[in-house]
Amino acid sequence: MKRLPARGAYDSDTVFKILDEAFLCHVGFVVGGQPFVIPTGYARVDEILYIHGSAASRMLRTLSEGVHVCVTVTLIDGLVLARSAFHHSMNYRSVVILGRATLVEQREEKLAALRAFTEHVVSGRWNDVRQPTEPEIKATTVLALPLAEVSAKIRTGPPKDDEEDYSLPIWAGVVPLKLVPEGPIPDPRLEHKIDAPGYAQNYRR
Ligand SMILES: Cc1cc2nc3c(=O)[nH]c(=O)nc-3n(C[C@H](O)[C@H](O)[C@H](O)COP(=O)(O)OP(=O)(O)OC[C@H]3O[C@@H](n4cnc5c(N)ncnc54)[C@H](O)[C@@H]3O)c2cc1C
Repeated sequence: MKRLPARGAYDSDTVFKILDEAFLCHVGFVVGGQPFVIPTGYARVDEILYIHGSAASRMLRTLSEGVHVCVTVTLIDGLVLARSAFHHSMNYRSVVILGRATLVEQREEKLAALRAFTEHVVSGRWNDVRQPTEPEIKATTVLALPLAEVSAKIRTGPPKDDEEDYSLPIWAGVVPLKLVPEGPIPDPRLEHKIDAPGYAQNYRR
């Protein structure tokens, strides 16, 4: 972030917009000198990022002990093809969060976080599904990471070539990339004639 300060952003609007569009993060932490970087889902509620998973998960057991963590979130918007190999790049929006995660023990906060996970990935789903039972809530660990030490970095626009390279007969530009949903596939074990709900038929972020 120090090398390209023009692309850095620290305001919460920019950070929240990226966190609300993505749903996959990579959680980095060290266990006994060995760094791990584990992909996992997340949800944001106000200024807290929640991650969750099986209470048996080593990642969650380790993090609930309060170790330092680095969480990254990345959205890819395009491939930037410059005239020189050196200036090839990607258009992206990303966030890096540093801090310590804490275990969420209060039942109401835990349930709100579980709701947020579901709603963050598929808005409207929570009210359609069987709600979690007490054993299911107990079997799930939820961790909270305050969005205190956070930065965003964004690259947009065409390639930035060296001035003398602009006259070269080489195509340059951007290949935009998007996450595009396809039509929903019903579970072969669907026992009732139910049409896929709107949020599955017209999924969008
Ligand atoms: C898109 C996506 C979303 C996910 N969402 C969640 C979530 O919301 N909650 C959740 O708990 N888990 C989620 N996972 C699974 C998560 O990545 C871990 O596998 C899981 O949490 C178990 O972690 P662990 O530390 O207990 O792994 P362990 O069972 O202790 O893993 C042992 C070793 O296996 C390797 N390993 C672990 N996970 C992976 C992996 N994903 N890919 C390759 N190697 C691996 C590592 O070397 C690890 O040290 C998600 C994975 C993906 C790809």
